[in-house]
Order: sequence, then structure tokens, then C-alpha cells
Amino acid sequence: MSPAPTNRSQSQQTQPSPASFDITARKIAYFSMEIALAKALPTYSGGLGMLAGDTLRSAADTGVPLVAISLVHRRGYFEQHLDSHGQQTESDVVWSPETTLPSANQTITITLQNREITLRAWRFDVIGHTGHIIPVFLLDADVEGNDPWDRRLTDHLYGGDTYYRLCQEAILGLGGIHLLHALGMQPEVCHMNEGHAALLSIALLESRVAPSPLSTATDADAEAVKQQCIFTTHTPVPAGHDKFGLDQMRQILGADRSSTIERFGALHNDLLNMTYLALRFSRYVNGVAMLHGKVSQQMFPEYTVHSITNGVHAATWLSQPFQKLLDKEVPEWRHDNQYFKSVYGIEPEAIEATHLPSKLRLFQTVKQRTGLDLDPHVLTLGFARRVATYKRASLILHSPERLIEIANRIGGLQILMAGKAHPADNAGKGLIRDIFTTAAKLESSKLRILYLENYDWDLGEQLTNGVDVWLNTPLRPYEASGTSGMKAALNGVPSLSVLDGWWVEGCAENITGWAIENSEDEAVEAERVYHKLEYSVAPAFADKAQWARIRRHCIAINGTFFNTHRMLGQYVSNAYYPPSASIAASNQVVVDDEAHVSVLV
Ligand SMILES: *Cc1c(COP(=O)(O)O)cnc(C)c1O
Repeated sequence: MSPAPTNRSQSQQTQPSPASFDITARKIAYFSMEIALAKALPTYSGGLGMLAGDTLRSAADTGVPLVAISLVHRRGYFEQHLDSHGQQTESDVVWSPETTLPSANQTITITLQNREITLRAWRFDVIGHTGHIIPVFLLDADVEGNDPWDRRLTDHLYGGDTYYRLCQEAILGLGGIHLLHALGMQPEVCHMNEGHAALLSIALLESRVAPSPLSTATDADAEAVKQQCIFTTHTPVPAGHDKFGLDQMRQILGADRSSTIERFGALHNDLLNMTYLALRFSRYVNGVAMLHGKVSQQMFPEYTVHSITNGVHAATWLSQPFQKLLDKEVPEWRHDNQYFKSVYGIEPEAIEATHLPSKLRLFQTVKQRTGLDLDPHVLTLGFARRVATYKRASLILHSPERLIEIANRIGGLQILMAGKAHPADNAGKGLIRDIFTTAAKLESSKLRILYLENYDWDLGEQLTNGVDVWLNTPLRPYEASGTSGMKAALNGVPSLSVLDGWWVEGCAENITGWAIENSEDEAVEAERVYHKLEYSVAPAFADKAQWARIRRHCIAINGTFFNTHRMLGQYVSNAYYPPSASIAASNQVVVDDEAHVSVLV
């Protein structure tokens, strides 16, 4: 069996690998502000970047003719440090593409802020298990001759103010298209992974009418661009949609592009709203889970919004012991994840035994980091995600006395938590401190709550591989999809989760996990978590045979569906190259009335 693609990608990082295929034949261009390419590269912050990376890894494994664009992020997102009170501080993660990756050997120049900026790019090859390559170009503004301030524009992922952010988005969208063209590619399909990349539509218009100015672009030109573009929206939280003032737009993009955006009706409420710009210029739009698609449809009733449910790249997220087991029992799984269904041919006890080493590995990491010994016989919950208020990390701590009571009655409980707050998010940082305070108060021989520092790819892998139950308590319907629970499911770890995002589709009660019904009243919702934990989860965990069957159902039922091989296949057949009838259908507006979305409007 070939090693996992991530390993191969990492091992070839330092060796320039010249293209051994005709790159100009790549017809699908995937744009994302962040992409998790390798554990050692700080080019991502969280779920969006992981999804992008997993998408490319599946494209490499399944042979999709794709090429990708992102920024180099020389100083990364950030490394999180937590002191003993849970106070977060941050440090840059500096890396040097010069000594890590081959150059694309191509520079381009675009005009931003009424001056020229030259961009270069570094190339990272994502290599599939049969050798198919997805080239990723990371744009870099740190080029001699550029204005000193401009040279820092590709340093910080999600750093700076709105001015900095719009410059970055211009580099991604405008720079990305012009780079692809300079390299000889003429993509038929341009996929905007979130609105950050929406300016690629303006670059496509520019190229289309060149050498004439943008002002000559006609409605027919705009329609032609629209027929090339696909847009995936990723959040129903309004603050998640980038907006910029018109003055800022004109200052950065210049008069020509600004008046073109205005002329084609792509502004929203007198703002440059990247979601609306993307909507205006896309022939196909989708949300990232069935419910999220419906919620987004309500938010944008004048457009048709489809759904393609997210997934994860199985070979990236499956523990090594499970990879070994599957290579032996179900060897076809690496190129076709449908074969996960075949784990029903494996004894449940073998699945249980395959999970144990990952639990022990996780506990060893906890020991190294905290000096504390966890007990592998005790029910262990995992909760790790970006610290955002709607994700409600503290719901499980809502009634500390109740939690202690349960821990005593069920023979002990261990909860492992992790997550970064954005450096500017003081409310989020306060939440981490609160968790530290509560955890210290609750500390007892039966209940242990640990918050681990610096949630990243490696920690995410160890947690989802090794805990017994994955906990998720977002405020519905704000969790668009969520993918960490999918990583857990692949590793035979059931979820205890609010019915939101992917879990609406993935939850079979008592089979793949447990649902928490939502409530207007947070205390009621917390009580539902406690009740399920005490009366459903703990008894199932105590019954070894039942627990082993639950683990197997998670892999067979949810592993088979919530993977990026399936997801990318749906993008190809529903979005990139749909039967022509479905393109026509997407011009009709269908509004689906769902009661629960009223909270958004
Ligand atoms: C998978 C992953 C995420 C996204 O998971 P959610 O369930 O969407 O929160 C975020 N960060 C890291 C490090 C991950 O591995």
C-alpha cells in the first residue's frame, strides 16, 4: 500500500519537483484564502483551510484535473500560548518558503492602491496515492521593488484591519487569475471557496476584455464570467461575511474595477460584500450541509442555493492502526471510500482493539504537556474547535454541580478541550479563562477537565482519533457543517451533539451517537446534554459489546458518506460539470420555507 498522501507531500517539500505533466490542461481552479497543506506549514487557521486541504488531497487521490491558489502566509495564523489562568497570548509562526518549496518561476504585476505590486508564487504539490499531482500556488507579495508596506500583505492570515484584508483578497482573486493565465492555464471552472476569493470574477472580466479597459465589459461578458464560476458559502453568521466601505474599495481596487462592480449590481447595501459579489458572478452556489444550504437560501432568496455536504480526507484523519486494519481487510478504501461500508465484515472487537492505541497515544501527549495521568478505562469526551461564542464551549460546564454528580455516578469522566480565540476576540479569550476557572474548581478524582494549548492539525488528529465521544454544542443553526465530528466518526468515535450542521444528516440515535434537541433556554439545553450523557452515553459505554458495535456503525455509516472523495465527486457532477439541464434549473429561484431560520432574519 502507498503511504498516506500527507506524508508524501511532507517528504517532498524540500525537493523541487518539476512538472511531469501538462499543467495547461488543468481546467478547474480552486481558490481559498487558507489551505492546510502539511502539518509543518502554517497556511491555515481552522475548518475552512482543513476542508480546502482535504478537498485537494481527495482530488489528488481520485485524479481530478484541478489546480489551486492561496496565499503564502509567511507568518502564519498564530501559535497559541495559555498561562495557568487560561490567559491567551499569541506568537507568529514564521516560515521560509524560499528554503521549503520550489518557485513557480513566474511573476505577475497588478495594480492595487493606484500603484503596481509584483507577485511571485511558491508551488506545493499535493500528491495522491497513485501519483496524481494537484499543484498549489501560494502567492507572495514579499518581492524586492514593491512598496515596503505592500511586501507584508501576504504575511498574516486574517491579520490586520479591513484595509489589509481587502488588499489580501485582491491579491488572491486578481493575482490568482492573472498568475494562472501567465502560467498558460485557461480554467473552465473557477471555484471560490468562501467569499474571500470573489474578486477573481473581476479578474476574469479584465482578461476577457483586455486590452480594452474594464469599462467596455458588456452584460454578455459578465454572463460569460458567471458561467465559469462556482461559489461555496461557509457560514450563516453575518459577521463571517466580509464587507468593505465604498471609499476603501475605490482606494484599493481603483475607479475602473469599482465602477464595474457597481455597474453590474454586485454591491449590497452600499457596501462591497464579498458574499454578494460571489453570488452575482456564480452560476452555481452551495452551502456545506443540507440544513446550511436551506438557511443560506433564506438569507439570499434572490439566488438559488444548493447543498453539498462537507467531508474529510479519510487517509489524513484515520489513525495509523485503522489504516493498517483497513489496508488488510478493505484494501480498496484509499481510492474509493464507499468501501468503508465493508467494515461490517470486521468483528466489532477488532474495531474496539484498534481504537485503544490512539487513546493511549493521546493520553501520553496529555501527560507530556500537563504532567497528568488520565485513566484509559474512564469515559473521555473531546471538545475542540475555534473559540466563537456560537460554538458555546462552556455549555457542558453550565451546571458544575450536575456534572460532578454525573461523574461520580458513572464511574468517572474526563473532558479534553482545545481551541484558539482570534487575537482580536476578547470575548473568546474571556471564555477560555472562564473554562480554566471552572475546571480548576471542579477538579476531583472522578472529574477531570483539561484545556490543551494550541489546537492545530496534530492535536486535532490525536483528539479525534483517541477520545471516546466527540462533543459539539453549537447554537443552531450557526454551525454550517462542522468537520471534526466526521474525523471522529471515521475513527469509530460517536458524537454527542446538538442537531446542527452535518449532524442533522449523520445522527442515528444510539447507533452513530446521540442528538441534543435545541431549546431557547440554554439551561434546558445543558440539562439535555447531562441527561443524554448519564442515561444514554454512559450506559452504552459500560456495555463493551454495544460500544464496539457503535464504533463500527460510526465508520460504516458515517465514514462511508462524510468524506471528501464523495464530496468532491458531487462537486464534479453537480457543480463543475453538471448535466446541462441542471444549469438551466439553477436560474430559477426556489425558496424553501423552514421555520428554524427565522432567527437569522
Ligand atoms: C477539523 C478541524 C477544524 C474544523 O472542525 P469543526 O468541527 O468545524 O470545528 C478546525 N481546526 C482544526 C485544527 C481541525 O483539525
